[in-house]
Amino acid sequence: MNSNYKHAQNLIDFIYESPSPYHVVKNVKASLLNNGFSELNLTEKWNIEKGEKYFVCQNDTSLFAFIVGTGEIEENGFKIIAAHSDAPTFKIKPSPEISVEDNYIKFNTETYGSPILNTWFDRPLSIAGRVSVKGGNILKPETYLVNINQPIVVIPNLPIHLNRTVNDGIALNKQVDMLPVTTVINGEINNDLLLVSKISEEINVPVEDILEVDLNLYDFTKGSIIGLNNEFISSGKLDDLAMVHAGMSAIIEAPASKSTNVLAIFDNEEVGSRSKQGAGSPILKDILKRIVIVQNKQEEDNQRAIYNSFMVSADMAHALHPNHPDKHDPVTRPVINGGPVIKIEGNQKYTTDSDSGAVFQMICKKAAIPYQKFVNRSDMQGGGTLGNVSAGQLAIRSVDVGNPMWAMHSIRETSGVDDHTYITKAFKSFYEIN
Ligand SMILES: [Zn+2]
Repeated sequence: MNSNYKHAQNLIDFIYESPSPYHVVKNVKASLLNNGFSELNLTEKWNIEKGEKYFVCQNDTSLFAFIVGTGEIEENGFKIIAAHSDAPTFKIKPSPEISVEDNYIKFNTETYGSPILNTWFDRPLSIAGRVSVKGGNILKPETYLVNINQPIVVIPNLPIHLNRTVNDGIALNKQVDMLPVTTVINGEINNDLLLVSKISEEINVPVEDILEVDLNLYDFTKGSIIGLNNEFISSGKLDDLAMVHAGMSAIIEAPASKSTNVLAIFDNEEVGSRSKQGAGSPILKDILKRIVIVQNKQEEDNQRAIYNSFMVSADMAHALHPNHPDKHDPVTRPVINGGPVIKIEGNQKYTTDSDSGAVFQMICKKAAIPYQKFVNRSDMQGGGTLGNVSAGQLAIRSVDVGNPMWAMHSIRETSGVDDHTYITKAFKSFYEIN
């Protein structure tokens, strides 16, 4: 087994163990703690030292890790990699049990972000997320992470005999077509409390103490490495857990540098980043400022630090599609395993400009890895990402990059085994710059 294969397999394990954004943060946190990072709390006073490693979490779904630079922060600034913990899915609505003619129970859900709906049919699915239960302090409910870890629901397709035009393309209704079924009614269970009873068993807390849940569906089937020569990674949520995993591996492996290395993992990118744990909030700006101020520096030092900083906004990119090459720009056509993609858009949906793009090219050259570029066809609109949202809060030089992949927002996406190692090397080499 070569090392690229092993690193890709580690990514697949990481995604499998991270069925919700809460579990992403839990797993990143565990790896950081195992590698010499200490946890700080946003609500408590900070004491930090040069060369030491720390992280903070917000809402259990966003995480900010940093290694305090050994230089002067106002001169050396921050080197930031940003990625996101969330992915398109379905969220469980309150009192979700819906009886179907007293025969089946299905769960009421709403879509989160923009999943490719038809990829969710006929798959063993499970449920994971966070549960808030009654605690001693009204303002601070106790929280538990839950992963039911059994395939307890499925969203069945209609058979082709009842849906003859299905292969011509049909409109799917999120409230009608996409509800997952969980059981056949057998008369012995309390159908109205089915899910909360299951959660109560999982976390060992009485049903009446469970106040709120934030639960999502996930593909129960683990990802795998596929292709004639084991060149592809097939998994859910490569967007953007591949970048979370690469950023985490890089910040763990890179030594302290003169500038302060930061890994920012935001939640809610898939729904526009406008939440207290999203890239549209002041959270990163607040944390960076705090890192400066607690080193006995002034506001002007903070501003100098920001203007001496550089950010890599890391989110996955579209690879040339084998069945639809016409969907891509005629010239700039990134391919899987061709290396990280620098994403460019004149209208600034991506933050890359000639300055920041040049920086990333030099980083790739230093790491001895290939790189590619992406632009949209001029008659097609791409998606936005973290960098341009974050730029509304922080005027930092920034580049948008990501690994090339197929089927973004499918329940099962495909990326490249070698690319995962390439971009991890690029991130490590970025953190190593002195
Ligand atoms: Zn993304």
